[in-house]
Amino acid sequence: MSAEADQRFDLLARLAQHHFGVAQALITRIADGQRSILAVAGLAPGEAPAELDALERDGHDGEIVLLADTRADGQPAIRFYAGCPLRAADGSRLGTLCLLDDRPRELDDGQRRFLLDLAGMAAALAGARREAELRAEIEALRASERQMALAIAGSGTGIWDRNVATGEIFYSAGWKALLGYAEDEVGNRIEESYTRVHPDDLAYVRATIQAHFDGKTASYDVEHRIRCKDGSYKWICSRGKVVSRDAAGRPLRMIGTTTDISAMHSMAERLQQSVDLVTHLTDEVPGLVFQYRCQADGAAFFTYASAGIRDIYELEPEQVAESDAAIHALVHPDDLPAYLASLETAAAAMVPWELEYRVLLPRQGLRWRQGVARPRSLADGSTLWHGFITDVTERKRIEAELQEFATTDFLTQLPNRRHFMSQIEGELARIQRGGGSGGAAVLMCDLDHFKAINDQWGHAVGDLALKHFAAILREQLRKSDLAGRVGGEEFAVLLPDTGLDDASAFARRLQYHLAERPLAHDGAGIALSISVGIAALNATDASVDAALSRSDMALYRAKSAGRNRIEWG
Ligand code: GH3
Ligand code: MG
Ligand code: MG
Repeated sequence: MSAEADQRFDLLARLAQHHFGVAQALITRIADGQRSILAVAGLAPGEAPAELDALERDGHDGEIVLLADTRADGQPAIRFYAGCPLRAADGSRLGTLCLLDDRPRELDDGQRRFLLDLAGMAAALAGARREAELRAEIEALRASERQMALAIAGSGTGIWDRNVATGEIFYSAGWKALLGYAEDEVGNRIEESYTRVHPDDLAYVRATIQAHFDGKTASYDVEHRIRCKDGSYKWICSRGKVVSRDAAGRPLRMIGTTTDISAMHSMAERLQQSVDLVTHLTDEVPGLVFQYRCQADGAAFFTYASAGIRDIYELEPEQVAESDAAIHALVHPDDLPAYLASLETAAAAMVPWELEYRVLLPRQGLRWRQGVARPRSLADGSTLWHGFITDVTERKRIEAELQEFATTDFLTQLPNRRHFMSQIEGELARIQRGGGSGGAAVLMCDLDHFKAINDQWGHAVGDLALKHFAAILREQLRKSDLAGRVGGEEFAVLLPDTGLDDASAFARRLQYHLAERPLAHDGAGIALSISVGIAALNATDASVDAALSRSDMALYRAKSAGRNRIEWG
Protein backbone atom coordinates (compact mmCIF):
# COMPACT_ATOMS: atom_id res chain seq x y z
CA MET A 1 0.00 0.00 0.00
CA SER A 2 2.67 2.48 1.04
CA ALA A 3 5.00 1.50 -1.85
CA GLU A 4 2.13 2.01 -4.28
CA ALA A 5 1.33 5.36 -2.70
CA ASP A 6 4.96 6.46 -2.96
CA GLN A 7 4.95 5.72 -6.69
CA ARG A 8 1.87 7.81 -7.16
CA PHE A 9 3.45 10.67 -5.18
CA ASP A 10 6.54 10.35 -7.46
CA LEU A 11 4.29 10.49 -10.50
CA LEU A 12 2.58 13.64 -9.24
CA ALA A 13 5.95 15.27 -8.46
CA ARG A 14 7.27 14.43 -11.95
CA LEU A 15 4.06 15.75 -13.52
CA ALA A 16 4.38 19.03 -11.61
CA GLN A 17 8.06 19.48 -12.47
CA HIS A 18 7.45 18.74 -16.13
CA HIS A 19 4.34 20.89 -16.44
CA PHE A 20 5.81 23.94 -14.72
CA GLY A 21 9.34 23.40 -16.10
CA VAL A 22 10.87 24.08 -12.68
CA ALA A 23 14.20 22.73 -11.38
CA GLN A 24 12.43 20.68 -8.72
CA ALA A 25 8.97 19.67 -7.53
CA LEU A 26 8.50 17.93 -4.21
CA ILE A 27 5.77 16.67 -1.95
CA THR A 28 6.29 16.94 1.81
CA ARG A 29 4.26 15.42 4.58
CA ILE A 30 3.50 16.68 8.08
CA ALA A 31 2.63 14.11 10.70
CA ASP A 32 2.76 14.70 14.48
CA GLY A 33 4.46 18.08 13.80
CA GLN A 34 7.30 16.38 11.89
CA ARG A 35 7.98 17.10 8.24
CA SER A 36 9.27 14.43 5.85
CA ILE A 37 9.65 14.28 2.09
CA LEU A 38 7.28 11.93 0.27
CA ALA A 39 8.49 12.43 -3.29
CA VAL A 40 11.01 14.52 -5.23
CA ALA A 41 11.36 15.18 -8.99
CA GLY A 42 14.28 17.07 -10.53
CA LEU A 43 17.40 18.48 -8.88
CA ALA A 44 17.35 20.72 -5.87
CA PRO A 45 18.62 24.22 -6.47
CA GLY A 46 21.31 24.74 -3.86
CA GLU A 47 20.84 23.32 -0.36
CA ALA A 48 17.15 22.98 -0.73
CA PRO A 49 15.99 21.21 2.46
CA ALA A 50 17.51 23.78 4.85
CA GLU A 51 16.15 26.69 2.83
CA LEU A 52 12.82 24.97 2.38
CA ASP A 53 12.38 24.95 6.14
CA ALA A 54 12.73 28.73 6.15
CA LEU A 55 10.30 29.11 3.24
CA GLU A 56 7.63 26.83 4.66
CA ARG A 57 7.76 28.54 8.04
CA ASP A 58 6.38 31.66 6.35
CA GLY A 59 2.88 30.37 6.91
CA HIS A 60 0.29 28.98 4.55
CA ASP A 61 -2.81 30.90 5.31
CA GLY A 62 -3.76 31.14 1.68
CA GLU A 63 -4.01 28.38 -0.84
CA ILE A 64 -0.67 29.06 -2.49
CA VAL A 65 2.41 30.76 -1.16
CA LEU A 66 4.23 32.25 -4.06
CA LEU A 67 7.64 33.83 -3.89
CA ALA A 68 8.29 34.99 -7.48
CA ASP A 69 11.85 36.16 -6.81
CA THR A 70 13.33 35.17 -3.51
CA ARG A 71 16.57 37.07 -4.04
CA ALA A 72 14.97 40.07 -2.42
CA ASP A 73 14.35 37.76 0.61
CA GLY A 74 18.03 36.87 0.75
CA GLN A 75 17.59 33.24 -0.42
CA PRO A 76 20.90 32.44 -2.18
CA ALA A 77 20.00 29.40 -4.36
CA ILE A 78 16.22 29.15 -4.53
CA ARG A 79 14.99 32.09 -6.56
CA PHE A 80 11.45 30.84 -6.99
CA TYR A 81 9.17 29.08 -4.51
CA ALA A 82 5.53 28.07 -4.82
CA GLY A 83 3.94 25.99 -2.04
CA CYS A 84 0.43 24.65 -2.05
CA PRO A 85 -0.84 22.99 1.14
CA LEU A 86 -2.32 19.49 1.07
CA ARG A 87 -5.44 19.46 3.21
CA ALA A 88 -7.42 16.55 4.59
CA ALA A 89 -11.23 16.44 4.35
CA ASP A 90 -11.42 17.94 7.88
CA GLY A 91 -9.18 20.85 6.80
CA SER A 92 -6.12 19.65 8.72
CA ARG A 93 -2.76 20.04 7.03
CA LEU A 94 -1.24 16.87 5.59
CA GLY A 95 1.78 18.37 3.79
CA THR A 96 2.82 20.62 0.91
CA LEU A 97 3.32 20.42 -2.86
CA CYS A 98 6.30 22.68 -3.63
CA LEU A 99 7.82 24.03 -6.82
CA LEU A 100 11.40 25.29 -6.66
CA ASP A 101 13.53 26.98 -9.30
CA ASP A 102 16.88 28.71 -9.57
CA ARG A 103 15.43 31.65 -11.49
CA PRO A 104 12.53 34.07 -10.81
CA ARG A 105 9.12 33.02 -12.16
CA GLU A 106 5.46 33.90 -12.15
CA LEU A 107 2.33 31.67 -12.21
CA ASP A 108 -0.65 32.73 -14.24
CA ASP A 109 -4.23 31.87 -13.19
CA GLY A 110 -4.31 28.67 -15.28
CA GLN A 111 -1.05 27.50 -13.76
CA ARG A 112 -2.32 28.31 -10.26
CA ARG A 113 -5.49 26.26 -10.87
CA PHE A 114 -3.42 23.38 -12.20
CA LEU A 115 -1.15 23.55 -9.13
CA LEU A 116 -4.24 23.49 -6.91
CA ASP A 117 -5.58 20.45 -8.79
CA LEU A 118 -2.28 18.62 -8.43
CA ALA A 119 -2.24 19.55 -4.72
CA GLY A 120 -5.80 18.24 -4.40
CA MET A 121 -4.75 14.92 -5.92
CA ALA A 122 -1.71 14.71 -3.64
CA ALA A 123 -3.91 15.56 -0.65
CA ALA A 124 -6.34 12.77 -1.56
CA LEU A 125 -3.41 10.36 -1.79
CA ALA A 126 -1.95 11.57 1.53
CA GLY A 127 -5.39 11.39 3.17
CA ALA A 128 -5.87 7.83 1.99
CA ARG A 129 -2.45 7.00 3.22
CA ARG A 130 -3.17 8.53 6.65
CA GLU A 131 -6.43 6.63 6.86
CA ALA A 132 -4.67 3.37 6.06
CA GLU A 133 -2.14 4.09 8.74
CA LEU A 134 -4.88 4.90 11.24
CA ARG A 135 -6.69 1.69 10.34
CA ALA A 136 -3.48 -0.28 10.90
CA GLU A 137 -3.01 1.47 14.22
CA ILE A 138 -6.57 0.71 15.29
CA GLU A 139 -6.15 -2.89 14.23
CA ALA A 140 -2.95 -3.13 16.29
CA LEU A 141 -4.78 -1.58 19.25
CA ARG A 142 -7.63 -4.04 18.87
CA ALA A 143 -5.20 -6.94 18.74
CA SER A 144 -3.49 -5.81 21.93
CA GLU A 145 -6.90 -5.24 23.51
CA ARG A 146 -7.88 -8.80 22.58
CA GLN A 147 -4.64 -10.07 24.16
CA MET A 148 -5.29 -8.02 27.27
CA ALA A 149 -8.85 -9.36 27.51
CA LEU A 150 -7.50 -12.91 27.16
CA ALA A 151 -4.89 -12.24 29.83
CA ILE A 152 -7.49 -10.78 32.18
CA ALA A 153 -9.87 -13.68 31.53
CA GLY A 154 -7.04 -16.15 32.15
CA SER A 155 -6.19 -14.48 35.43
CA GLY A 156 -9.67 -15.17 36.77
CA THR A 157 -10.49 -11.48 36.77
CA GLY A 158 -13.58 -9.81 35.33
CA ILE A 159 -14.21 -6.14 34.63
CA TRP A 160 -17.26 -4.07 35.45
CA ASP A 161 -18.29 -0.56 34.59
CA ARG A 162 -21.08 1.03 36.61
CA ASN A 163 -23.08 4.09 35.71
CA VAL A 164 -24.03 5.30 39.16
CA ALA A 165 -26.48 7.90 37.88
CA THR A 166 -28.59 5.48 35.80
CA GLY A 167 -28.10 2.39 37.96
CA GLU A 168 -26.64 0.41 35.08
CA ILE A 169 -23.66 -1.89 35.34
CA PHE A 170 -21.86 -3.59 32.48
CA TYR A 171 -19.83 -6.73 32.92
CA SER A 172 -17.05 -8.07 30.70
CA ALA A 173 -17.44 -11.51 29.16
CA GLY A 174 -14.66 -12.64 31.52
CA TRP A 175 -16.67 -11.43 34.51
CA LYS A 176 -19.68 -13.43 33.40
CA ALA A 177 -17.56 -16.48 32.71
CA LEU A 178 -16.16 -16.20 36.23
CA LEU A 179 -19.60 -17.01 37.61
CA GLY A 180 -20.46 -19.52 34.90
CA TYR A 181 -22.75 -17.21 32.91
CA ALA A 182 -22.88 -16.83 29.13
CA GLU A 183 -22.63 -13.38 27.55
CA ASP A 184 -26.41 -12.76 27.46
CA GLU A 185 -27.29 -14.27 30.83
CA VAL A 186 -26.44 -11.34 33.09
CA GLY A 187 -28.60 -8.24 33.25
CA ASN A 188 -27.21 -4.72 33.52
CA ARG A 189 -29.16 -3.38 36.51
CA ILE A 190 -27.33 -2.79 39.75
CA GLU A 191 -30.34 -4.12 41.76
CA GLU A 192 -29.85 -7.49 40.05
CA SER A 193 -26.15 -7.41 40.96
CA TYR A 194 -26.96 -7.07 44.64
CA THR A 195 -29.17 -10.18 44.52
CA ARG A 196 -26.05 -12.25 43.69
CA VAL A 197 -24.14 -11.06 46.79
CA HIS A 198 -24.33 -13.50 49.72
CA PRO A 199 -27.06 -12.24 52.12
CA ASP A 200 -24.61 -12.26 55.07
CA ASP A 201 -22.16 -10.06 53.14
CA LEU A 202 -24.60 -7.65 51.54
CA ALA A 203 -24.75 -5.03 54.30
CA TYR A 204 -20.97 -4.88 54.52
CA VAL A 205 -20.57 -4.63 50.72
CA ARG A 206 -23.15 -1.81 50.51
CA ALA A 207 -21.51 0.06 53.39
CA THR A 208 -18.09 -0.24 51.76
CA ILE A 209 -19.39 1.09 48.43
CA GLN A 210 -21.22 3.92 50.16
CA ALA A 211 -18.07 4.91 52.05
CA HIS A 212 -16.26 5.18 48.72
CA PHE A 213 -19.14 7.08 47.08
CA ASP A 214 -19.00 9.49 50.02
CA GLY A 215 -15.29 10.03 49.38
CA LYS A 216 -14.26 8.46 52.68
CA THR A 217 -11.99 5.95 50.94
CA ALA A 218 -9.57 6.43 48.07
CA SER A 219 -10.82 3.25 46.40
CA TYR A 220 -13.31 0.47 46.89
CA ASP A 221 -11.91 -2.88 47.96
CA VAL A 222 -14.00 -5.67 49.42
CA GLU A 223 -14.01 -9.47 49.71
CA HIS A 224 -17.33 -11.22 49.70
CA ARG A 225 -19.24 -14.27 48.51
CA ILE A 226 -21.17 -14.16 45.27
CA ARG A 227 -23.68 -16.59 43.83
CA CYS A 228 -22.73 -18.39 40.62
CA LYS A 229 -25.10 -19.56 37.92
CA ASP A 230 -25.21 -23.04 39.47
CA GLY A 231 -26.31 -21.59 42.82
CA SER A 232 -23.00 -22.19 44.59
CA TYR A 233 -21.10 -19.31 46.21
CA LYS A 234 -17.62 -18.18 45.30
CA TRP A 235 -15.33 -15.89 47.30
CA ILE A 236 -14.33 -12.89 45.18
CA CYS A 237 -12.34 -9.75 45.65
CA SER A 238 -13.93 -6.68 44.15
CA ARG A 239 -11.82 -3.56 43.63
CA GLY A 240 -12.88 -0.36 42.01
CA LYS A 241 -12.81 3.40 41.91
CA VAL A 242 -15.15 6.23 41.06
CA VAL A 243 -13.67 7.75 37.89
CA SER A 244 -16.01 10.70 37.49
CA ARG A 245 -18.19 12.81 39.76
CA ASP A 246 -20.57 15.69 39.15
CA ALA A 247 -19.91 19.23 40.30
CA ALA A 248 -21.44 18.40 43.70
CA GLY A 249 -19.04 15.45 44.11
CA ARG A 250 -21.73 12.82 43.53
CA PRO A 251 -20.33 9.71 41.81
CA LEU A 252 -21.25 9.29 38.16
CA ARG A 253 -19.17 6.37 37.00
CA MET A 254 -17.22 3.66 38.74
CA ILE A 255 -15.05 0.95 37.17
CA GLY A 256 -13.40 -2.00 38.73
CA THR A 257 -12.39 -5.62 38.65
CA THR A 258 -13.62 -8.81 40.23
CA THR A 259 -11.12 -11.54 41.06
CA ASP A 260 -11.92 -15.11 41.99
CA ILE A 261 -10.22 -15.75 45.35
CA SER A 262 -12.10 -18.92 46.32
CA ALA A 263 -8.95 -21.04 45.99
CA MET A 264 -7.01 -18.65 48.20
CA HIS A 265 -9.91 -18.50 50.59
CA SER A 266 -10.24 -22.24 50.94
CA MET A 267 -6.47 -22.46 51.50
CA ALA A 268 -6.74 -19.79 54.20
CA GLU A 269 -9.67 -21.72 55.68
CA ARG A 270 -7.69 -24.97 55.70
CA LEU A 271 -4.80 -23.14 57.35
CA GLN A 272 -7.14 -21.76 59.98
CA GLN A 273 -8.51 -25.26 60.53
CA SER A 274 -4.98 -26.56 61.18
CA VAL A 275 -4.33 -23.70 63.58
CA ASP A 276 -7.63 -24.43 65.35
CA LEU A 277 -6.78 -28.12 65.51
CA VAL A 278 -3.38 -27.44 67.10
CA THR A 279 -4.92 -24.96 69.52
CA HIS A 280 -7.77 -27.29 70.50
CA LEU A 281 -5.47 -30.27 70.90
CA THR A 282 -2.93 -28.41 72.98
CA ASP A 283 -5.65 -26.77 75.05
CA GLU A 284 -7.11 -30.19 75.88
CA VAL A 285 -3.76 -31.59 77.02
CA PRO A 286 -3.46 -31.25 80.79
CA GLY A 287 -0.51 -28.93 81.24
CA LEU A 288 1.15 -26.22 79.23
CA VAL A 289 2.21 -26.93 75.64
CA PHE A 290 4.57 -24.26 74.40
CA GLN A 291 6.95 -22.89 71.82
CA TYR A 292 9.64 -20.81 73.49
CA ARG A 293 12.23 -18.71 71.73
CA CYS A 294 15.55 -17.57 73.20
CA GLN A 295 17.29 -15.02 71.01
CA ALA A 296 21.00 -14.51 70.65
CA ASP A 297 20.62 -11.06 72.26
CA GLY A 298 19.24 -12.68 75.42
CA ALA A 299 15.56 -11.88 74.84
CA ALA A 300 13.34 -14.90 75.56
CA PHE A 301 9.58 -15.24 75.14
CA PHE A 302 6.81 -17.76 74.47
CA THR A 303 5.75 -17.66 70.81
CA TYR A 304 2.98 -20.11 71.69
CA ALA A 305 1.43 -21.06 75.01
CA SER A 306 -1.62 -23.30 75.29
CA ALA A 307 -4.53 -22.56 77.63
CA GLY A 308 -2.85 -24.79 80.23
CA ILE A 309 -0.65 -21.84 81.21
CA ARG A 310 -3.56 -20.64 83.36
CA ASP A 311 -3.22 -23.72 85.59
CA ILE A 312 0.53 -24.21 85.36
CA TYR A 313 1.60 -20.63 86.08
CA GLU A 314 -1.70 -18.80 86.72
CA LEU A 315 -0.79 -16.54 83.77
CA GLU A 316 -2.37 -15.61 80.43
CA PRO A 317 -0.51 -16.46 77.18
CA GLU A 318 -0.15 -12.72 76.46
CA GLN A 319 1.82 -12.22 79.67
CA VAL A 320 4.68 -14.34 78.35
CA ALA A 321 4.44 -13.38 74.67
CA GLU A 322 7.16 -10.76 74.95
CA SER A 323 9.19 -11.88 77.94
CA ASP A 324 9.57 -14.89 80.24
CA ALA A 325 10.16 -12.66 83.29
CA ALA A 326 6.68 -13.39 84.68
CA ILE A 327 7.58 -17.09 84.92
CA HIS A 328 10.94 -16.45 86.58
CA ALA A 329 9.05 -14.54 89.26
CA LEU A 330 6.92 -17.64 89.98
CA VAL A 331 9.64 -20.30 90.09
CA HIS A 332 10.62 -21.08 93.70
CA PRO A 333 13.68 -18.92 94.53
CA ASP A 334 15.58 -22.04 95.68
CA ASP A 335 14.91 -23.74 92.31
CA LEU A 336 15.37 -20.73 89.99
CA PRO A 337 19.17 -21.04 89.59
CA ALA A 338 18.82 -24.73 88.67
CA TYR A 339 15.92 -23.88 86.34
CA LEU A 340 17.96 -21.27 84.44
CA ALA A 341 21.18 -23.30 84.42
CA SER A 342 19.46 -26.47 83.16
CA LEU A 343 17.94 -24.60 80.21
CA GLU A 344 21.26 -23.04 79.36
CA THR A 345 23.12 -26.35 79.58
CA ALA A 346 20.58 -28.14 77.40
CA ALA A 347 20.68 -25.34 74.81
CA ALA A 348 24.49 -25.33 74.73
CA ALA A 349 24.63 -29.09 74.13
CA MET A 350 21.42 -29.15 72.02
CA VAL A 351 20.02 -31.94 74.17
CA PRO A 352 16.48 -32.28 75.53
CA TRP A 353 15.67 -30.35 78.70
CA GLU A 354 13.99 -32.08 81.60
CA LEU A 355 13.52 -30.66 85.07
CA GLU A 356 11.34 -30.95 88.15
CA TYR A 357 11.03 -27.67 90.01
CA ARG A 358 8.75 -25.89 92.39
CA VAL A 359 6.62 -22.82 91.72
CA LEU A 360 4.97 -20.46 94.20
CA LEU A 361 1.61 -19.43 92.78
CA PRO A 362 -0.80 -16.79 94.11
CA ARG A 363 -3.79 -19.17 94.20
CA GLN A 364 -2.39 -22.71 94.37
CA GLY A 365 0.62 -21.97 96.55
CA LEU A 366 3.62 -24.33 96.43
CA ARG A 367 3.35 -26.77 93.54
CA TRP A 368 5.72 -29.10 91.70
CA ARG A 369 6.20 -28.74 87.94
CA GLN A 370 7.93 -30.99 85.44
CA GLY A 371 9.25 -29.45 82.24
CA VAL A 372 10.27 -31.37 79.11
CA ALA A 373 11.39 -29.67 75.90
CA ARG A 374 13.58 -30.10 72.84
CA PRO A 375 15.80 -27.32 71.48
CA ARG A 376 16.34 -26.41 67.83
CA SER A 377 18.83 -23.82 66.72
CA LEU A 378 17.69 -21.31 64.13
CA ALA A 379 19.69 -19.54 61.45
CA ASP A 380 19.63 -16.22 63.33
CA GLY A 381 21.39 -17.74 66.33
CA SER A 382 18.31 -18.12 68.48
CA THR A 383 17.09 -21.35 70.07
CA LEU A 384 13.54 -22.52 69.54
CA TRP A 385 12.08 -24.86 72.15
CA HIS A 386 9.00 -27.07 71.83
CA GLY A 387 7.79 -28.79 74.93
CA PHE A 388 5.34 -29.01 77.79
CA ILE A 389 5.08 -28.39 81.51
CA THR A 390 2.92 -30.63 83.69
CA ASP A 391 1.75 -30.56 87.27
CA VAL A 392 3.63 -33.30 89.21
CA THR A 393 2.65 -32.15 92.72
CA GLU A 394 0.58 -35.28 93.40
CA ARG A 395 3.28 -37.57 92.06
CA LYS A 396 5.88 -35.78 94.20
CA ARG A 397 3.65 -36.24 97.27
CA ILE A 398 3.26 -39.97 96.58
CA GLU A 399 6.98 -40.29 95.96
CA ALA A 400 7.71 -38.62 99.29
CA GLU A 401 5.21 -40.91 100.99
CA LEU A 402 6.77 -43.98 99.40
CA GLN A 403 10.20 -42.75 100.40
CA GLU A 404 9.04 -42.42 103.98
CA PHE A 405 7.35 -45.81 103.80
CA ALA A 406 10.56 -47.38 102.58
CA THR A 407 12.76 -45.72 105.20
CA THR A 408 10.59 -45.49 108.32
CA ASP A 409 9.52 -48.14 110.79
CA PHE A 410 5.76 -48.03 110.87
CA LEU A 411 5.35 -48.83 114.60
CA THR A 412 7.82 -46.39 116.10
CA GLN A 413 8.16 -43.90 113.22
CA LEU A 414 11.92 -44.15 113.61
CA PRO A 415 14.17 -44.92 110.62
CA ASN A 416 14.17 -48.64 109.82
CA ARG A 417 17.27 -50.81 109.81
CA ARG A 418 18.09 -50.27 106.14
CA HIS A 419 17.74 -46.51 106.36
CA PHE A 420 19.73 -46.34 109.59
CA MET A 421 22.52 -48.39 107.99
CA SER A 422 22.72 -46.04 105.01
CA GLN A 423 22.77 -43.03 107.33
CA ILE A 424 25.52 -44.43 109.49
CA GLU A 425 27.55 -45.22 106.37
CA GLY A 426 27.16 -41.61 105.31
CA GLU A 427 28.39 -40.51 108.72
CA LEU A 428 31.49 -42.74 108.46
CA ALA A 429 32.26 -41.23 105.06
CA ARG A 430 31.89 -37.74 106.58
CA ILE A 431 34.28 -38.62 109.42
CA GLN A 432 36.75 -40.06 106.93
CA ARG A 433 36.60 -36.85 104.86
CA GLY A 434 37.68 -35.04 108.03
CA GLY A 435 34.32 -33.55 108.92
CA GLY A 436 33.53 -32.84 112.58
CA SER A 437 35.76 -33.48 115.60
CA GLY A 438 36.87 -36.85 114.35
CA GLY A 439 34.69 -39.44 116.02
CA ALA A 440 31.16 -40.63 116.75
CA ALA A 441 29.58 -43.03 119.20
CA VAL A 442 27.35 -45.97 118.30
CA LEU A 443 24.90 -47.23 120.93
CA MET A 444 23.01 -50.53 120.74
CA CYS A 445 19.96 -50.58 123.09
CA ASP A 446 17.89 -53.71 123.79
CA LEU A 447 14.79 -53.91 125.99
CA ASP A 448 15.27 -56.32 128.88
CA HIS A 449 13.05 -59.36 129.23
CA PHE A 450 10.80 -58.08 126.52
CA LYS A 451 9.49 -61.51 125.74
CA ALA A 452 8.07 -61.62 129.25
CA ILE A 453 6.11 -58.40 128.63
CA ASN A 454 4.57 -59.89 125.54
CA ASP A 455 3.80 -63.04 127.41
CA GLN A 456 2.31 -61.31 130.42
CA TRP A 457 0.39 -58.42 128.81
CA GLY A 458 -0.07 -59.49 125.25
CA HIS A 459 1.58 -58.50 121.95
CA ALA A 460 -0.38 -55.22 121.65
CA VAL A 461 0.97 -54.02 124.96
CA GLY A 462 4.42 -55.13 123.78
CA ASP A 463 3.91 -52.80 120.78
CA LEU A 464 2.94 -49.96 123.10
CA ALA A 465 6.10 -50.60 125.12
CA LEU A 466 8.19 -50.31 121.92
CA LYS A 467 6.47 -47.02 121.02
CA HIS A 468 6.91 -45.76 124.59
CA PHE A 469 10.63 -46.36 124.49
CA ALA A 470 10.93 -44.86 120.98
CA ALA A 471 9.25 -41.67 122.22
CA ILE A 472 11.67 -41.34 125.16
CA LEU A 473 14.61 -42.03 122.83
CA ARG A 474 13.43 -39.40 120.32
CA GLU A 475 13.16 -36.80 123.08
CA GLN A 476 16.82 -37.24 123.91
CA LEU A 477 18.13 -36.83 120.36
CA ARG A 478 19.88 -33.68 119.17
CA LYS A 479 19.25 -32.48 115.65
CA SER A 480 22.35 -34.17 114.32
CA ASP A 481 21.81 -37.48 116.21
CA LEU A 482 20.40 -40.51 114.42
CA ALA A 483 18.40 -43.39 115.78
CA GLY A 484 16.77 -46.43 114.17
CA ARG A 485 14.85 -49.56 115.06
CA VAL A 486 17.26 -52.21 113.90
CA GLY A 487 15.56 -55.31 115.34
CA GLY A 488 12.37 -56.42 117.14
CA GLU A 489 13.13 -54.68 120.43
CA GLU A 490 16.56 -53.43 119.50
CA PHE A 491 17.41 -49.80 118.76
CA ALA A 492 20.64 -48.26 117.48
CA VAL A 493 21.77 -44.69 118.07
CA LEU A 494 24.49 -42.70 116.35
CA LEU A 495 25.84 -39.66 118.19
CA PRO A 496 28.16 -37.64 115.89
CA ASP A 497 31.09 -35.75 117.39
CA THR A 498 30.60 -37.59 120.69
CA GLY A 499 33.16 -39.37 122.91
CA LEU A 500 32.44 -42.50 124.96
CA ASP A 501 31.89 -40.53 128.18
CA ASP A 502 29.20 -38.34 126.67
CA ALA A 503 27.72 -41.43 125.02
CA SER A 504 27.52 -43.14 128.45
CA ALA A 505 25.82 -40.07 129.88
CA PHE A 506 23.34 -40.23 127.02
CA ALA A 507 22.65 -43.91 127.75
CA ARG A 508 22.21 -43.19 131.44
CA ARG A 509 19.68 -40.46 130.64
CA LEU A 510 17.72 -42.96 128.57
CA GLN A 511 17.73 -45.50 131.42
CA TYR A 512 16.76 -42.79 133.87
CA HIS A 513 13.77 -41.51 131.87
CA LEU A 514 12.60 -45.04 131.11
CA ALA A 515 12.69 -45.87 134.81
CA GLU A 516 10.93 -42.61 135.64
CA ARG A 517 8.10 -43.26 133.20
CA PRO A 518 6.80 -46.82 133.38
CA LEU A 519 4.39 -47.76 130.59
CA ALA A 520 0.89 -46.85 131.77
CA HIS A 521 -1.50 -49.75 131.33
CA ASP A 522 -4.85 -50.48 132.96
CA GLY A 523 -4.13 -47.99 135.73
CA ALA A 524 -0.88 -49.79 136.50
CA GLY A 525 2.69 -48.94 135.42
CA ILE A 526 4.74 -51.58 133.63
CA ALA A 527 8.41 -51.15 134.48
CA LEU A 528 10.84 -51.24 131.50
CA SER A 529 14.61 -51.26 131.33
CA ILE A 530 17.29 -51.42 128.68
CA SER A 531 20.76 -52.75 128.34
CA VAL A 532 23.20 -50.62 126.28
CA GLY A 533 26.44 -51.46 124.47
CA ILE A 534 28.57 -48.50 123.30
CA ALA A 535 31.39 -48.39 120.72
CA ALA A 536 33.31 -45.60 118.97
CA LEU A 537 32.99 -45.06 115.19
CA ASN A 538 36.44 -43.94 113.99
CA ALA A 539 37.89 -42.64 110.76
CA THR A 540 40.14 -45.68 110.74
CA ASP A 541 37.19 -48.12 110.62
CA ALA A 542 37.15 -49.91 107.30
CA SER A 543 33.35 -50.20 107.53
CA VAL A 544 30.48 -49.48 109.90
CA ASP A 545 30.13 -53.22 110.59
CA ALA A 546 33.22 -53.21 112.83
CA ALA A 547 31.82 -50.50 115.10
CA LEU A 548 28.38 -52.13 115.13
CA SER A 549 29.74 -55.52 116.11
CA ARG A 550 31.84 -53.89 118.88
CA SER A 551 28.72 -52.24 120.29
CA ASP A 552 26.84 -55.58 119.91
CA MET A 553 29.52 -57.32 121.93
CA ALA A 554 29.33 -54.64 124.61
CA LEU A 555 25.55 -55.12 124.70
CA TYR A 556 26.02 -58.84 125.13
CA ARG A 557 28.28 -58.17 128.09
CA ALA A 558 25.69 -55.84 129.63
CA LYS A 559 23.04 -58.60 129.30
CA SER A 560 25.35 -61.19 130.76
CA ALA A 561 26.27 -58.97 133.65
CA GLY A 562 22.63 -58.75 134.78
CA ARG A 563 20.80 -56.32 132.34
CA ASN A 564 19.77 -52.67 132.86
CA ARG A 565 23.49 -51.90 132.40
CA ILE A 566 25.81 -49.96 130.13
CA GLU A 567 28.97 -51.52 128.70
CA TRP A 568 31.42 -50.24 126.08
CA GLY A 569 34.15 -51.74 124.05
P1 GH3 B 1 16.68 -60.18 126.80
O1 GH3 B 1 16.53 -59.44 128.05
O2 GH3 B 1 17.73 -61.17 126.74
O3 GH3 B 1 16.78 -59.23 125.62
O4 GH3 B 1 15.33 -60.99 126.66
P2 GH3 B 1 14.18 -60.70 125.71
O5 GH3 B 1 12.99 -61.44 126.08
O6 GH3 B 1 13.99 -59.19 125.55
O7 GH3 B 1 14.78 -61.18 124.37
P3 GH3 B 1 14.31 -62.23 123.29
O8 GH3 B 1 15.19 -62.03 122.13
O9 GH3 B 1 14.27 -63.52 123.93
O10 GH3 B 1 12.85 -61.81 122.94
C1 GH3 B 1 12.54 -60.68 122.14
C2 GH3 B 1 11.09 -60.68 121.93
O11 GH3 B 1 10.62 -59.49 121.32
C3 GH3 B 1 10.65 -61.80 121.05
C4 GH3 B 1 9.60 -61.22 120.16
O12 GH3 B 1 8.38 -61.88 120.21
C5 GH3 B 1 9.40 -59.82 120.66
N1 GH3 B 1 9.16 -58.94 119.60
C6 GH3 B 1 9.94 -58.70 118.52
N2 GH3 B 1 9.36 -57.75 117.73
C7 GH3 B 1 8.18 -57.41 118.36
C8 GH3 B 1 7.17 -56.49 118.03
O13 GH3 B 1 7.18 -55.81 117.03
N3 GH3 B 1 6.13 -56.38 118.91
C9 GH3 B 1 6.05 -57.12 120.04
N4 GH3 B 1 5.00 -56.96 120.79
N5 GH3 B 1 6.98 -58.01 120.31
C10 GH3 B 1 8.05 -58.14 119.52
MG1 MG C 1 16.77 -58.68 121.63
MG1 MG D 1 15.55 -58.08 124.82
